[in-house]
Amino acid sequence: MVLRLSTLFLRTLREDPVDAEVASHKLLVRAGYIRRAAPGIYSWLPLGLKVLAKVEAIVREEMNAIGAQEVHFPALLPREPYEATNRWTEYGEGLFRLKDRKEADYLLAPTHEEMFTLLVKDLYSSYKDLPVCLYQIQTKYRDEARPRAGLLRGREFIMKDSYSFDIDDAGLDASYAAHREAYLRIFERLGLEVIPVKATAGAMGGSKSEEFLHPTEVGEDTFVRSAGGYAANVEAVTTVAPPEIDFTDAPPAEVKDTPDTPTIETLVACANDIAPRDGEPWTAADTLKNVVLAATLPTGERHIVIIGVPGDRAVDLKRVEANIGGFLPVGGEVAIEAASEEDLKKHPGLVKGYIGPGESLDAAVLGTEGKTGLLYLVDPRVVSGTSWITGANLEGKHVFGLVAGRDFAWDGVIESVEVRAGDEAPDGSGPLEAARGIEMGHIFQLGRKYAEALGLQVLDANGKLTTVTMGSYGVGVTRAVAALAESNHDGKGLVWPRNVAPADVHIVATGKGTEIFEAAAELAAGLEAAGLEVIYDDRPKVSPGVKFGDAELIGVPTIVVVGRGLADGVVEVKDRATGEAGNIPLEAAVAHVAALAGK
Ligand code: ATP
Ligand code: MG
Repeated sequence: MVLRLSTLFLRTLREDPVDAEVASHKLLVRAGYIRRAAPGIYSWLPLGLKVLAKVEAIVREEMNAIGAQEVHFPALLPREPYEATNRWTEYGEGLFRLKDRKEADYLLAPTHEEMFTLLVKDLYSSYKDLPVCLYQIQTKYRDEARPRAGLLRGREFIMKDSYSFDIDDAGLDASYAAHREAYLRIFERLGLEVIPVKATAGAMGGSKSEEFLHPTEVGEDTFVRSAGGYAANVEAVTTVAPPEIDFTDAPPAEVKDTPDTPTIETLVACANDIAPRDGEPWTAADTLKNVVLAATLPTGERHIVIIGVPGDRAVDLKRVEANIGGFLPVGGEVAIEAASEEDLKKHPGLVKGYIGPGESLDAAVLGTEGKTGLLYLVDPRVVSGTSWITGANLEGKHVFGLVAGRDFAWDGVIESVEVRAGDEAPDGSGPLEAARGIEMGHIFQLGRKYAEALGLQVLDANGKLTTVTMGSYGVGVTRAVAALAESNHDGKGLVWPRNVAPADVHIVATGKGTEIFEAAAELAAGLEAAGLEVIYDDRPKVSPGVKFGDAELIGVPTIVVVGRGLADGVVEVKDRATGEAGNIPLEAAVAHVAALAGK
């Protein structure tokens, strides 16, 4: 059906919506694709739905091509399955929870691992049934702390989520690899550049995981890459630990008076003053900074953690959040912040500005009589035998030559400090540079966590019950629409790639004569018969300027103007992206435009 602008449910806007910060949000609203219903919640208008359907179709085709089968779950779900995996609690404030009239707890699903696991458990019981991969394209709900940038971070959004079920690790590897390939094809067909980066599994648990980031300045994810092909989410970058050092001959540690040195800067100046080192002056990298942090667990409980890092490095709270999970008593989303004065007061052993390693092996050296009793983690650079200037847990005192592994121990090693441009990539592929991106997709090897929690077992070839291993894979479908708009626009409006444009051609009829409108209508019908999707601006009393402006704002790849040229038997065919325009004889227009559209 030709979409006639005289009747199409559409009002384009001259002004940007007041709450819009990014181009995709402004243009999708102004061009009449979406309307805001509430913060992070959008209604879809006819043109928007066309683009959405095209994105969905590409995702669907590629999922079907790897043998995944489409199902559809409700978004409104009971609490119990999420209770069984502990996500009812672990998801924290991001989960929309509600009650029915009988006071039973429900949620609006943020993702569906539990339901898919239970469905397979319901129906399958043998290894012969596996592998199986199921997916849906469905609405998700997350009460995001900062819904922003329109569809890029919504509170209601559409995701394609798929789940693979395999009998063994090799099967999971194959399912994961198939998804990885399918995702690369999806984004290629969408015309959306993505870089697969190593990721941390976060609250989902599991092991191997990659995110597909679309590089753009408006992205909220920072990632790093090397010229040699390494790419990782900042949270997931690993540090190559230096070799351990033999400390047999290391001189003993010595506590020194260092009054008024509560910062690394003042400490380094003081150290060079009172105990200068032969050859090279002390620098911040020679000091061990013990940073006290407070971790708020999904249960609301507050845990104090100390992390020892080289003094020339700042702690990156997001990296701590992503990597601290395994060290805390409860899984799930944790929020990390600097410990408050209140927190410090509760632990009198911690002397602000002079805090030492939490686990002293020699009570004589540190003022806490050995232990603070707090979780003490260190940066990977703090390896056995490294020697540090660090706090002595005594007011105005630091200890010099404190040797890791000899004078203090730690509960674990954590990636917690900022990654800097110029740091070496962990695989030796060169120095890292930072870039920003939007997460378009994410693939995880979940392993057996969900299957164990929900009891998904099948009989293996020997008749023994075996727990199934799973993968979970997401694509942000509505986010993809926004990312496409973000990377395909100019000063005049949207510039859709052909694969996802709401139509192939936008015909503008300008002028007063009925013959113009008759010719334009005939052209529209001819193009439609040739298999093209057509928008036809047939509005009788709208000025040419407004019509051209709307065509450019809406952003269909080919614009055909039927107007003054008609007297000479020609129409103007214009490429929205390049702006190139040329006259084509009217009778050749259908074939010409159909060829442009690849039809
Ligand atoms: P983010 O880090 O951006 O919050 P996420 O890691 O929480 O995303 P996943 O749980 O991995 O997201 O969800 C799979 C995909 O769903 C993401 O890769 C992204 O494309 C999309 N997605 C996630 N949250 C949103 C949202 N609030 N609005 C739109 N799309 C989203
Ligand atoms: Mg993710």
